[in-house]
Amino acid sequence: AKEYGRNCYRFYSEELTSLAADRLSLERDLRGALARGEIFPVYQPQIEFGTGRVTGAEALMRWRHPKRGLVLPADFIPIAEDSGLILSLGEYILRESCRQARQWHDRHGFDAVVAVNVSAVQFRQNDFTDAVSRVLAETGLLPERLELEVTESVVMQGVESAVQKMRVLDDSGIKIAIDDFGTGYSSLSYLRNFAVDRLKIDLSFVRDIPHHTDANAIVGAIVTMGRGLGSRVIAEGVETEAQAQFLQSVQCDEGQGYLYAKPMNATDFEAWLKTSNSG
Ligand code: C2E
Ligand code: CA
Ligand code: CA
Ligand code: CA
Repeated sequence: AKEYGRNCYRFYSEELTSLAADRLSLERDLRGALARGEIFPVYQPQIEFGTGRVTGAEALMRWRHPKRGLVLPADFIPIAEDSGLILSLGEYILRESCRQARQWHDRHGFDAVVAVNVSAVQFRQNDFTDAVSRVLAETGLLPERLELEVTESVVMQGVESAVQKMRVLDDSGIKIAIDDFGTGYSSLSYLRNFAVDRLKIDLSFVRDIPHHTDANAIVGAIVTMGRGLGSRVIAEGVETEAQAQFLQSVQCDEGQGYLYAKPMNATDFEAWLKTSNSG
């Protein structure tokens, strides 16, 4: 039994060591990734159900690693958050998205919002709102064309200062979306403290409609509440026509997902925009 225990321990610790080593090597690579031009946003359109109009483009971060290939956020955002690297990565994605949206506006009359994910680590910075205004000034994007996607955990951390920052952003005309809505453990009372422009229904609910009555009920309730609060409601992860039909039947405003388009690099998104405008 003693022998067995020791082997077990050794196996466990070797596995841990290799995981930790992998994480360390990713973190080391991530440190130089921005300077080497390996980080970039891809864009996924957001579509109004009734009209098919493009109402927004969500920017999603990607990392083209020289050896590992394309690395998805789930594998590097947590490392970026723990190490503080998310501050520079996040600001880069914000600036690049605003620059791009301004360019699409000038070239193609793109007047939808560009939606940028904001980490709790970024939002917590005292100068966060200043950093955002600086980027808008530098890129010439109108505040109304920028939407910041924050999760409920962001709103709940140090409620006082979070609400204060939300108000500053809201007053400047920037839009606020609550991401992954319904998956956090927060109270809903924060919704009374500032204007939320959009509620985003998490794909974990969308995945299960229209065949699971629980998911249907939750999605219906989120839409009713969102509309009652004057927010638009958007569903993420819409993959099937049946999901889109259910969402439309409960008056969800917009959808985003593979049914419409996968996230695309800037060049492909621009080409997609042209075909969807003329279609
Ligand atoms: P999220 O903000 O909830 O984004 C939705 C995720 O669903 C994205 O994954 C998107 O590519 C994926 N998706 C889109 N349509 C579909 C669909 O029809 N079906 C399915 N199954 N998935 C779909 P992605 O790009 O891997 O991003 C994962 C998460 O990483 C995001 O979740 C967000 O929390 C975070 N993230 C991405 N970009 C950034 C960023 O620039 N900054 C920060 N702080 N977080 C980011
Ligand atoms: Ca998001
Ligand atoms: Ca507003
Ligand atoms: Ca989500």
